[in-house]
Amino acid sequence: MSEANSDESKFNELLSCPFCGGSADIDCDATKDITWSIDNAQIACNECGAATEINWCDPLDKESCKKCVVDTISLWNKRAV
Ligand SMILES: [Zn+2]
Repeated sequence: MSEANSDESKFNELLSCPFCGGSADIDCDATKDITWSIDNAQIACNECGAATEINWCDPLDKESCKKCVVDTISLWNKRAV
């Protein structure tokens, strides 16, 4: 099951900021072990504050939540911020 490993690295791969080249972090409530009725994920640059739109998902649905994070990362990595 090596596919799981490659998925995991892809999952965490965030390119640098398209505007200033700074490092970016994903802000997702689900990664903080907090359970809200609504969850969201957003990626923002630590340097200039450029950010993706907020993606919303259902925190009780792990697949929905993971897809939300992956979608947000791909949005950031496509420079479609
Ligand atoms: Zn930036």
